[in-house]
Amino acid sequence: MKGERVAVRNIAKRYGSVTAVEDVSLDVKAGEFLSLLGPSGSGKTTLLMMIAGFELPSAGLIEVGATDVTHVAPNKRNVGMVFQKYALFPHMSVRDNVAFPLRMRKIDRAQIERRVLEALAMVQLDAYGSRAPTQLSGGQQQRVALARALVFEPPVLLMDEPLGALDKKLREQLQIEIKSLQQRLGVTVIYVTHDQEEALTMSDRIAVMDKGQIAQIGSPASLYSEPASPFVAEFIGKMNFLPVEYLGSATSGPQIRVSGTSTLSVTRSFNGHALELSPGLSLLAAIRPENISLTAHGFGGPDAIAGTIDTSIYLGTHQIFLVNIDGRSGPPLHIQAPANRNQSTFARGDAVDILFQADAIHLFASNGAMANE
Ligand code: ADP
Ligand code: MG
Repeated sequence: MKGERVAVRNIAKRYGSVTAVEDVSLDVKAGEFLSLLGPSGSGKTTLLMMIAGFELPSAGLIEVGATDVTHVAPNKRNVGMVFQKYALFPHMSVRDNVAFPLRMRKIDRAQIERRVLEALAMVQLDAYGSRAPTQLSGGQQQRVALARALVFEPPVLLMDEPLGALDKKLREQLQIEIKSLQQRLGVTVIYVTHDQEEALTMSDRIAVMDKGQIAQIGSPASLYSEPASPFVAEFIGKMNFLPVEYLGSATSGPQIRVSGTSTLSVTRSFNGHALELSPGLSLLAAIRPENISLTAHGFGGPDAIAGTIDTSIYLGTHQIFLVNIDGRSGPPLHIQAPANRNQSTFARGDAVDILFQADAIHLFASNGAMANE
């Protein structure tokens, strides 16, 4: 089995006045694991259904390999599909469920038998062939659905929230199983999820969807470290947002101020939409919990912001502090620190100095666009 590339060109889907997908273009490489990640209603399923052939696009085209499949029937696209609800045939045995795509393709009996056994072995269900789907757990049923999708060796596998109905532990186990199976087989996977951890765990690249469009596409690491908008910044990982005032630019980079506090320097270079930066402009600063540190009050130096511990949470590998900036309302900052049992820790009510890592502060325009120096 070998993966094929998938290309989506300027695709759109309208239902009456509702635009479910708007002008999406996407190049998925052969053998790549690409996730479509976004909140409910962002158009993930609609996009996947158009790639599968179950929905006809209102505009645009789709290629699998070198073939334009825009108007090709789903069963002629050579694309496997796994849905959230396992969609197994309840009256058929596991074996017959998995054999179904091969029967449809008029494969001869001996070959069907061999390939069904292989597919069941692949998902570790060799011993379950004669059971009915109702005699299996949710996780096992989804493995059968996976075997059925892969049994005809499609170069492309589409999955729509396949683990959404399973509990967390099983979900995490199957994420690893699916990922390692995909790598072993070399199949191209387009995987829909609204769970950012799942997307980070499994994907070579993630396309973050918002209101029918791709907000940003990139590797998990690049989306995490270089989010192009507050939407992406908030959707991937945990992010603190703070309204700040732009003061001007120094050689080290822009200077900003959180209302009522000292001047902060930002040493990141920006890219994105051009924005006229003039002193006094309101911006949105964003910083990850692990890029903020705490010291006892009075020890933070001139760049520190005074704050008070609201909540202290111990999580084994690390600790979380929720900290209020003194004199400022709004949600507390979420700060993550390594859990070091030799280190003195902070408790509710403690006065602290808060330090932002200058090269980890992202600046966005207040309306959501990326600020540009
Ligand atoms: P997601 O999978 O990201 O939750 P969907 O692709 O299911 O999003 O839906 C995207 C948008 O299109 C939603 O606003 C949804 O209500 C709308 N939509 C989806 N399918 C239909 C349909 N058959 N008729 C009308 N609107 C639809
Ligand atoms: Mg959906």
